[in-house]
Amino acid sequence: MKITFLGTGTSQGIPVIGCDCEVCVSENPQDKRFRTAVMISINGKNIVIDVGPDFRQQMLQNNIIDVDSVLITHEHNDHIIGLDDVRPFNFRYQKDMPIYCTTMVMNSLRSRFAYAFLENPYPGSPRFNLREIDAETPFEVAGQKIIPIEVIHGKMPVLGFRFDDFTYITDAKTIAPESLEKIKGSKVLVLNALRKEEHHSHFSLDEALNFIEIVQPERAYLTHISHRMGLSADINKTLPSNVSIAYDGLKLETD
Ligand SMILES: [Zn+2]
Ligand SMILES: [Zn+2]
Ligand SMILES: [Zn+2]
Repeated sequence: MKITFLGTGTSQGIPVIGCDCEVCVSENPQDKRFRTAVMISINGKNIVIDVGPDFRQQMLQNNIIDVDSVLITHEHNDHIIGLDDVRPFNFRYQKDMPIYCTTMVMNSLRSRFAYAFLENPYPGSPRFNLREIDAETPFEVAGQKIIPIEVIHGKMPVLGFRFDDFTYITDAKTIAPESLEKIKGSKVLVLNALRKEEHHSHFSLDEALNFIEIVQPERAYLTHISHRMGLSADINKTLPSNVSIAYDGLKLETD
């Protein structure tokens, strides 16, 4: 299984438009972040988790010519609004894009992309094949078992996903004990950490590190980073040896 970080930034991305803080003006490519998304390549198929506003650039920069399916964590704009750009895959492969998501996300997609769900959509509209999942029931995509894990984002339920020993969680602020049980034993954990200061709906750096300490994965990567986190090179020096800040384009192999 191969994991490619397509984006590791919070909802405004980095640089933030008009900001001249040291992170936004940094020339280190690891301080430039598209909105958070990841691709899992397995059994010759690419599964993308979240399709934010940078999806088109993420596909181009990583030379991705096919996406088998999409999983959506939650319906916030930075995780869904790029879905119009699945059209090249609709056209090239003559298929409706399978999108695995909860009922709540589905309802949101039907209203935010209403033009794609008309009885006679405008020719050239994106074509989605919505597939309902829930927080309790494992499902299979491309021959791979995926365990959904509910985490809480302020008040909103969000899904994380576990693929064998790899667990991906974004936009969490609270993780209940039942969900922790599903995460335990992961060798590689990706977890959101917004910045050093606390936030009402995202883990701060300390909160994320505390959670990693409980799970004790071999490796952990932080994602959904704000420019207020600081320079990635500076933060990396302060982290435990098994934790690092993810960056756009980072690739991992698991066995
Ligand atoms: Zn900034
Ligand atoms: Zn969110
Ligand atoms: Zn987000």
